[in-house]
Amino acid sequence: MKLQFLGTAAERIPAMFCACDTCRRALAAGGRNIMRRSQVLINDDLLIDFSGDSYSNFINVGKTLSNVEHVLITHAHDDHFTFEDFFSRFEGIAYNVRTEKLRIYLSSVAYDIMQKCITARGLDKKSLGKRFEFIVVEPYTTFPVGKYTVTALPAVHASCGEALIYLIEEDGKAFFYGTDTGFFSEETDAFLAREGKKIDLLCLDCTKCDNEFNYYVHMSMSEGRRIADRFAEGGLLKDGAALYYTHFSHNGGMIYDELAEVARSKYGFAVTYDGLTVTL
Ligand SMILES: [Zn+2]
Ligand SMILES: [Zn+2]
Ligand SMILES: [Zn+2]
Repeated sequence: MKLQFLGTAAERIPAMFCACDTCRRALAAGGRNIMRRSQVLINDDLLIDFSGDSYSNFINVGKTLSNVEHVLITHAHDDHFTFEDFFSRFEGIAYNVRTEKLRIYLSSVAYDIMQKCITARGLDKKSLGKRFEFIVVEPYTTFPVGKYTVTALPAVHASCGEALIYLIEEDGKAFFYGTDTGFFSEETDAFLAREGKKIDLLCLDCTKCDNEFNYYVHMSMSEGRRIADRFAEGGLLKDGAALYYTHFSHNGGMIYDELAEVARSKYGFAVTYDGLTVTL
């Protein structure tokens, strides 16, 4: 399984209209310190999330989205789901796509928001149906997505209704993508243990960076470390499992160069950056 982290921020670093100290330092430092909104490509056909940065995320790694067959949406916040851009996949706009229909897996809340937009804009539902299939996903379910097995779990991210975190398995490898969630309960661990899941790469929300400000819908480095320890104790991590933080925010007050050092030395985690590729 090849993972490519295309975007690794919340509201981007630097944020679009922001001139805070973190954003200014990131802009000056450049390189990995510049982070677009979060998105992960698995192999070349399964995508997680679809923000308005999707186009630039793909161009940054020399690709378009023509090979993507499936999209898992975590939740309806705009840094993860800007569905208007899907309409550039209509016939007559997108040619030589690998599959006629793009399959989009999303929560009922995200689905309802999208349907309202489609109706409000008067979009042709027949054209839509030719190029898209929408599959509503419930938490605590495991289902096939092409050659992958996907498990959806509930996130602690109540401000936009139902949000999901995902475990994706292929060929005996398992990737846990847990962003846009606060410190989740041991119910998640228990479910994974019951299902016999073992993780090769654990990637967790790090919006608060190395701070503990009161923001229960996201996590800090130390909260992520506590989840990793809990998963290890519960037998959910394979030996030598990789640990990564992702989804950074200028509100955390740190740029990539600082994040990478603190994550490694203090918490034993690595840090994602836009374009990072990891093969499991
Ligand atoms: Zn987010
Ligand atoms: Zn800022
Ligand atoms: Zn969110």
